[in-house]
Amino acid sequence: MSVTHESAIHAFWLAGRKTTGEDTLDVTSPWDNRLVGTVSVPTDAQVEEAVAAAVAVQAELAATPAHVRASALDHVMKRLIERTEEIARLISAENGKPMKWARGEVGRAVSVFRFAAEEARRFNGGEAQRLDTDAGGVGRLALTRRFPRGTVLGISPFNFPLNLCAHKVAPAIAVGAPIILKPAPATPLSGLLLGELLSETDLPAGAWSVLPVPNDRMPALVQDERLPVISFTGSDKVGYAIMESVPRKHCTLELGGTGAAVVLSDFSSEADLDWAATRIATFSNYQGGQSCIAVQRVIADVSLYERLVPKIVAAVEAQVTGDPSDETTEVGPLISEDAAKRVESWVEEAVRGGATLLAGGKRDGASYAPTVLADVPAGVTLAYEEAFGPVLTLQQVDGEAAAFEAVNDSKYGLQAGVFTHDTRAAFRAHRALEVGGVIIGDVPSYRADQMPYGGVKQSGVGREGVRFAMEDYTYERVMVLTGL
Ligand code: NAD
Repeated sequence: MSVTHESAIHAFWLAGRKTTGEDTLDVTSPWDNRLVGTVSVPTDAQVEEAVAAAVAVQAELAATPAHVRASALDHVMKRLIERTEEIARLISAENGKPMKWARGEVGRAVSVFRFAAEEARRFNGGEAQRLDTDAGGVGRLALTRRFPRGTVLGISPFNFPLNLCAHKVAPAIAVGAPIILKPAPATPLSGLLLGELLSETDLPAGAWSVLPVPNDRMPALVQDERLPVISFTGSDKVGYAIMESVPRKHCTLELGGTGAAVVLSDFSSEADLDWAATRIATFSNYQGGQSCIAVQRVIADVSLYERLVPKIVAAVEAQVTGDPSDETTEVGPLISEDAAKRVESWVEEAVRGGATLLAGGKRDGASYAPTVLADVPAGVTLAYEEAFGPVLTLQQVDGEAAAFEAVNDSKYGLQAGVFTHDTRAAFRAHRALEVGGVIIGDVPSYRADQMPYGGVKQSGVGREGVRFAMEDYTYERVMVLTGL
């Protein structure tokens, strides 16, 4: 697939083969609406062919030696490194992500494949358990190993069009489970390009497919009994609807959040506040705020609030907005004009309700200016929904307990950042915060691809992070030896 041939039709990958269907889907740039590519869409018969091929190869793939699977993962990693610039340009074109962040995303995908190759080499060594701790177990031994649950259906969102596909695909190959990857309709090109790199490996046909199936045809695929594992990243609305429609399937849901950054009273030197303000401003706006762990809420101690606010406002206003292909741009457009209009209406509602606008609050097409609001009243949408845009709300609290309570006052619980130097406060935060990850000394937006990642409450079910996804895609099967 070439990024420069924008008028060519991009084939999809059916059981490792480049294939075209009958319909097409146009992919346009959120920045200037130019056509970035036209993607071929699989027919129902082609989707069926991909599922049948995946099921047919399950046993063979599971028996593939670890070194063969690890080599395939290593190959994809190397090719991602070699083609970083080109792939970053593709991500930037279809998603509107500034080049510096797009390059960062390719680097993250490189790490995912590297970790998966490493884990493939050491996963499933097995565990032996003595059973003679009980009279009935004398002469017996239990051996436990993990085996794939079956073919994985991976569904990914638009905001990290390469790396969140990598998080579905790499762990599946690492454990020897076939995968059908369904990229987001706004950004399918990065997932299809990942398919091209996979096609250069010698994984058996059927081990993987990349199918840009339209949303209205997804329920049939979700319901397909031959796909026992669904790994979904996206909105809570779609994620929970999927899980409720297939209660007997093994679903991992990586959903939204209202990322909170807490600044505790001890984090109060000028240097501390400068660091916190810079990190908060950067990570409320990276990806145009369209990250599930972007900073949405600043919860600062009353003792330093008045000094912190101007620093945050200045750092937010210093964010360079504009054309994502420009090397200096830090904040590009949102994924669509509709998305920017939604954010605009939520900010307007908050201001009507009494919030104070300290920065931003302006829309230009799909672009929304980095925005800061204080005194957001409890009842308005921005106070409880995921903004998924470059909007920050500021709140002052009196003391640590009130800060932690404010973090937990959300239906979401993905990650939280706590700026403190106090080790004991860090442990208290770890215990008190109802989230999947607590980041001490930084924003909630920190994610390393090998660590467990996921939420509680309405932020989802299960964990990603390479090894944790591998555990998710497999189950423990015990073998008892008798007469020893
Ligand atoms: P979305 O829920 O609209 O779409 C996600 C995926 O689901 C897309 O591939 C879409 O085509 C597909 N889909 C839509 N309807 C479907 C259906 N009926 N059946 C099956 N699949 C269907 O989400 P989005 O707008 O692409 O992404 C934004 C959301 O993703 C935000 O809420 C964000 O917080 C969340 N997100 C979460 C994480 C995480 O790891 N927790 C990471 C990134 C994004």
